[in-house]
Amino acid sequence: MTDCIFCKIIDQEIPSYKVYEDDKVYAFLDITQVTKGHTLLVPKEHVTDIFEYDPALAGDVFARVPKVARALEKAFPEMQGLNIINNNKELAYQSVFHSHIHLIPRYGKTDDFS
Ligand code: 5GP
Ligand code: ZN
Repeated sequence: MTDCIFCKIIDQEIPSYKVYEDDKVYAFLDITQVTKGHTLLVPKEHVTDIFEYDPALAGDVFARVPKVARALEKAFPEMQGLNIINNNKELAYQSVFHSHIHLIPRYGKTDDFS
């Protein structure tokens, strides 16, 4: 999709810090680090939100979540936990309309989510 910021990131037209990549998905650091290592996992295929997934795409994307989680655990061994969040549509706080899954490492109960 021509005017999608995440498609441009996947195509390397916009720089990003890569966490994981294969033929189906790309994972990169969120520009706003809610906590250290906050990562977005996106399908390489442009889909707007979860309502556009078919079962094959859902399998491709969600099967990669543990891989990205393990990559984060390796990069940030002090990580104590992980939140996985997926916002769909504006009312639910989606702001980029190329579907993505947030992986937010947790380091302690005092992690700042504001
Ligand atoms: P949403 O609010 O749609 O669930 O999450 C979109 C996320 O994309 C936000 O956390 C925002 O910080 C991130 N984001 C927006 N533009 C860029 C960008 O150009 N690069 C990166 N790495 N992250 C972005
Ligand atoms: Zn896109």
